[in-house]
Order: sequence, then structure tokens, then C-alpha cells
Amino acid sequence: MLKTEPVSTDTLENNLRDRYSENQLRWLDKAKSFADRLSLEDVIASDRDNQFRKDLFEAACQEGLGALPFPDTYGGSAGDYISFCLVNEEFARRCVPIMSSLGVHVLCQEPVYRFGTEAQKARYLPPSSAGKFLAAFGLTEPDAGSDTAALKTTARFDGEKYLLNGAKTWITSGASADYYIVMAKVLGDAHKPMAGDPTKRDHGITAFIVERDFAGFQIGQKFDMLGMRGYSTCELVFDDCIVPVENMLGEPGEGRKVALSSLAKGRVTIAAQATGWAQGALDALVKVLRRRYQEQVIDESINGLAATVGDLAITVEAARVLTYQAAASVDRGSADVTLAAMAKTTATDAAMKVSTEALSILGVEGLEPELLVERIFRDAKAGQIYEGTNQIQRMLIARALLK
Ligand SMILES: Cc1cc2nc3c(=O)[nH]c(=O)nc-3n(C[C@H](O)[C@H](O)[C@H](O)COP(=O)(O)OP(=O)(O)OC[C@H]3O[C@@H](n4cnc5c(N)ncnc54)[C@H](O)[C@@H]3O)c2cc1C
Repeated sequence: MLKTEPVSTDTLENNLRDRYSENQLRWLDKAKSFADRLSLEDVIASDRDNQFRKDLFEAACQEGLGALPFPDTYGGSAGDYISFCLVNEEFARRCVPIMSSLGVHVLCQEPVYRFGTEAQKARYLPPSSAGKFLAAFGLTEPDAGSDTAALKTTARFDGEKYLLNGAKTWITSGASADYYIVMAKVLGDAHKPMAGDPTKRDHGITAFIVERDFAGFQIGQKFDMLGMRGYSTCELVFDDCIVPVENMLGEPGEGRKVALSSLAKGRVTIAAQATGWAQGALDALVKVLRRRYQEQVIDESINGLAATVGDLAITVEAARVLTYQAAASVDRGSADVTLAAMAKTTATDAAMKVSTEALSILGVEGLEPELLVERIFRDAKAGQIYEGTNQIQRMLIARALLK
């Protein structure tokens, strides 16, 4: 069996281990042993065939990874966010094919913990941590990506229940999920007073928990994308979809607050994944250059490459430092949105830079799927776009400075 073994220097690995507590390293080692048990053929196949591996997702949840950063009250593993980031970094580095779905799954549980009723927590959280339910996040629409206030999916209260109409697009895990956190604009009166300012464009946006088998819900077109393949990414269609009042998450009109609460942490998760991609691309580059050097395919010319390799290592490390600062801020309870934006932007740009440079240096050998660099190159591009494009993150950072 071909292995997905990481190849970076042992010294670097050992130095990194000094930074984390025993408990945090326990989660990292769990992630490593999970990745060790995967064959490289399986990793490549899920990307090539665009197939989601729900069995792997369930197995990861059985190891406590499905609700790692949540308290044990509803089955969470009571780990901290740094530990969750370590798992994400390792999974991205090795291209473990459930990584993105696991990240979104945790992102979806966050608002249930924060805004959910006791009944919602009891219904959705224990099966989510156990891997019996997979969650997906439905915010983006064909005409509402960065501009979430423009969303057109509507929810109308008919005196008894809500009827949702509209469509969501690019939804990670969409075709495989069991429930969805969906943002829709309430038209007319809600079942209780609406929060927010009626003159604002985002007025009425409300979060709902929609189950896969609710009448009027359908899985739409599935996407065959350049990167982030194998995650069941698809459209969701709501055609008079019946949603009980009890499935409203938070208060009517509080949807943006609900969405933003999870996205702030979600961006730290993406930063950790992108740090892993950057490290994975550097690992592959170092592995090939070492071999070429040993085989004397390159000799003096390695000096010409040294500055680039050194620069790439600095890029990876800078992304990691910022990412774990943002994760520590989550663990302190301050969840600094600006820091999360900085970490997400820096780390995804780092992943793009390192994978691009690695491909340039490796030449055609870099295109071999077994090295995972071309896969990382494709995935990193998506990382710069989702959960808020890097351009938008830069604007948020500037706005925080200038306000
Ligand atoms: C792999 C993948 C998985 C995804 N998973 C999910 C998911 O699970 N759930 C979900 O809800 N969504 C998901 N998305 C959607 C993602 O969040 C959106 O793609 C993202 O928010 C950007 O929206 P957009 O693609 O419509 O781009 P647009 O908003 O149309 O932006 C296009 C370009 O214009 C720029 N731009 C936009 N507005 C401004 C502005 N005001 N000023 C300057 N520049 C601007 C952007 O930065 C970008 O470069 C996913 C996307 C991808 C690629």
C-alpha cells in the first residue's frame, strides 16, 4: 500500500511539537494515525472520482474528531481550538479526503451550541458528534456570494410553519448531509417579533435547520470542480420546503449574527487547513529535491534554489504562527474576527504561493498525483475564495483599522 507519509525534516517536526500541550499533541497524533491508515490510492481516488467518503467521516467522528472543540454535554470531545487546528493542518497536509466536510460539520454545530434551543441541541448535537448526522452550511446563492445581504431565498410563515423557497449553491457536503443550516429572508410577519432595522438590506435574514427529508427540499446540480473535489459540493433547492417553527435557529432576523458567529471560527479552521496545504507542498518539494541531490541530478544548481526553498519555509511558518495565534484567541473566548481574517488570508495565500513555486521547481514531476502538490495547488485556490474571499477579508481588516 502506498502511504501518505509526510516527509518534512524530523527536526522541524520536533520543534513544532514543543509548542503544544500533551493534550493538544494527543489530538495531533490521533490525526496522524488516522492519516497513516489511509492509502495514497484512496486519497487520490476521492479527488479523481469526485467521491465523498462518508465512511471515513463516520470513522473520524468515532475517534472524537466530529465535535472536537465542543463541551462533552452533547457528546463533544472537550478539546480546544488549537487541537482542532492541529487536526485540520495534518489532514490538509496529507490531503485526507474528509477534511473540508469535517471543518464545515464543526462550523455548523457552533451556532446550534450558541443559539439553539435545548430541543435543537438534543436532536442535532449528539448524532453530529457520533457521525450519525453530517451537517452542511447553506448561505451562498447564485446572486449572493460575498454580498450575503443580497440573498433571495425566502421564508414565509403561514400561521403554523415556514415555507422556504429558493436555492443555495456551492454547498460543501451538500449532497451527503443529513441537515443544513440555511439562511433565508423572512417575508411578511414571523411567528414572533423580528429583530433588526427594517431599512437595512439584510433585514429579515434568519437561520433555519433544514433536514434532508423535509418535504420540498431537494439536492440540485452536483459540481465537478477544479479543486476541493470529493466533498459532495452541490446546489440545494427549496420548493415550498416545509420547516417547522421549532427549526428556526436563533430569533427571526438574527440570521447574519448566527452566520457570522460560526464563520469567524471557520476562517481559523481554513487557516489551519491552508497551513497544512502549504506544509504538504513544501514536504513534496523537499522530498524530490533531496532525492535529486542524492542522485546528483542537481548539484551546484541547488544553491540557486536554496533561497526559494528558504523563502517558502518562512512563508509556511509565518502562516502557522498567525493561524495558531488566531486559534489561541478563540480558546481565550475573544474570537478576534480581524485576526481570523488575517490568518485565513495569510495562510491561503501561503498555500497558493508554496504550491505554485513547488510546481514550477519540480517541473513535470510535480504533476504526479502521488506527490499531492498539484492537488494542493487546486485546493488552495478554492481556499482563497470560500468562507469569504481574500479580497473581502482584506477589506474587513482595513475597515476594522479605519472605523
Ligand atoms: C470549494 C467551495 C466550497 C464552498 N462551500 C460553501 C458552503 O459550504 N456553504 C456556502 O454557503 N458557500 C460555500 N461556498 C461559496 C463561497 O463562500 C463563495 O464562493 C464566496 O463567498 C465568494 O462568493 P462568489 O463566489 O459568489 O464570488 P463573488 O462574491 O461574486 O466575488 C467575485 C470576486 O469579486 C470580488 N468582490 C466581491 N465583492 C467585492 C467588493 N465589494 N469589493 C471588492 N471585491 C469584491 C471577490 O473578492 C471575488 O474576487 C464554497 C465555495 C467554494 C469554491
